[in-house]
Formats: sequence, structure tokens, C-alpha cells
Amino acid sequence: MKKQLLERVESDGEEIIDFLQGLIKKKSSNPPGDTREAISYVSKFLEEREIEHRILRPDKEKPNIVSKIEFEKPGRNLTLNGHVDVFPVSDTEAWKHDPWSGVLENGRIYGRGACDMKAGVTALVYTFIILSELSEKLSGSITLTVVSDEETGGRLGSGWLIENIPEVRGDCCINAEPSSPHTIRFGEKGILWFKVSIHAPGAHGAYTHLSSNPIKIAAKIISDLENLKNLPVKHPKTLAETLKEGRQEAEIALGSGGFNVMSNISVNFGVINGGIKKQHDT
Ligand SMILES: [Zn+2]
Repeated sequence: MKKQLLERVESDGEEIIDFLQGLIKKKSSNPPGDTREAISYVSKFLEEREIEHRILRPDKEKPNIVSKIEFEKPGRNLTLNGHVDVFPVSDTEAWKHDPWSGVLENGRIYGRGACDMKAGVTALVYTFIILSELSEKLSGSITLTVVSDEETGGRLGSGWLIENIPEVRGDCCINAEPSSPHTIRFGEKGILWFKVSIHAPGAHGAYTHLSSNPIKIAAKIISDLENLKNLPVKHPKTLAETLKEGRQEAEIALGSGGFNVMSNISVNFGVINGGIKKQHDT
């Protein structure tokens, strides 16, 4: 069956590329996160192939698609999960091609989210469709989830589905986040996002003894938080062994230092604002 599947992917190649290019053209930056066009593009495609699916809207601008196929024999459920929202485009001028063009050049497709993760969503959608045609040969079930909110935390995307739609909770989940030809990644770190506000009365720059300075306090907090990445992390035995085994490939895929980031707590700082007075430009 593996051969049959690979042949099918090969023969549908052009159609698959065409689908991906079309999906890239649907602007879906998050923030702000209006992904209706991209979701309706996927939905229309499923509809044309008579694949029943539901569109669930925890937010009217962020719909999620769920579709489940029960195969003939009973068995476990595999969930396929991908997101259509993408990072915003901050500097259009810096792009070689229009970020919403999906241009194919020298064997590469260009566009915002082509890699993260509209190519992945394309792979999942086609996997789902191809497997749906092999119902009599397979057991268990397969669930497709195409979600709208991942780039700002996933609360209204996969997070919402897990909490509200029991059928998406599979025995195993394949998520098509980009990795590289060198590795298949497994597991995801949990995230904790938070905002820190520091308030102090403030004082003239000549009389710093009169008030603590919020910017200095923030710098100290940032430096302390940075130390979190040095906390020892105890991985389950199999995970530790597998990580170690794949160390070399991980460094090839992610660049030097990638292995340590994968194995430990990662710490990042997003936006910092502070102060009310600055030197005049002139
Ligand atoms: Zn992603």
C-alpha cells in the first residue's frame, strides 16, 4: 500500500502544488487573525471532493475545520492537525516575491506561511483525502483538524478544539509544523506567555535616589528569567535517548545550538516599552 500511496502523491503532484499556491494567496496574518478566506478555501476543496466536515467558530473571524472518517474495521484514531494562520508581513520591500503570490521558481514556492504551515496543511489535507478513499483497507478512524489560531497561542484553534470537541482527541496526532528533511520532530513544549508591568513614581535623572527606575527593574527581571533556561530538565527515558540519538541531525536542521534549545526550557522576550523622556534628535 505504501507504494500505491507514493504513486498517488506523485501523480497528483501538480494538483497538490496548485492547491498550496492557492492557499498561500489567501491572506491570513495573525495578528490580526482573520482567516476566513483561507478556511473557506480548504472547506470548498473538501466540499468538491464530497468530504463531510464541520466549521466551528469560537470567534467569527477564526473558524476551524473538523472532519472525521471512520474506516471499516474498528481501531484507533489518528488526528491530523495544521494551522492556516501565518506570521504578519512586516517589510514587504524585503521580499523577493510578493509574500501573497505563492510563486513557484526553481523548484521552490515562495510566500508568507508557505513553510509554516500552509505546505503542511496541504500535506495533511491530501493525506486525509487519499486515505478516505482506502476505507476498506484501513482500520480505526482519522480526524482532520485545520485551525485558525496558532501564531498567537492557539487558544481559539487547537486549544479550543481539545477543550470542546472530544472527537479531535486521537490516540496519536500528526502535526505538520515545519521541520526539515533531516528530522521528524515529536512532542511540543508547553508555553507560558505573560506580561510584566512595572510602575514606580520616577524621579529627576539627577536624583535617582528618590525612586527606583522601572527600566532597571525590567532589566533585572529579564536577566533573572533568562536563567530559567539553565534549569535542569528531566526527560522521560525514551525521549532522552531519542533526543540524544538525533542530536547531529537536529543541529543540521536547526543550526548549531539547536539541540540545546530543543532539550531545555526556551526563554524569549517579545516587546518592551518604557520611559517617558528621551534625548532630542538634534
Ligand atoms: Zn506553525
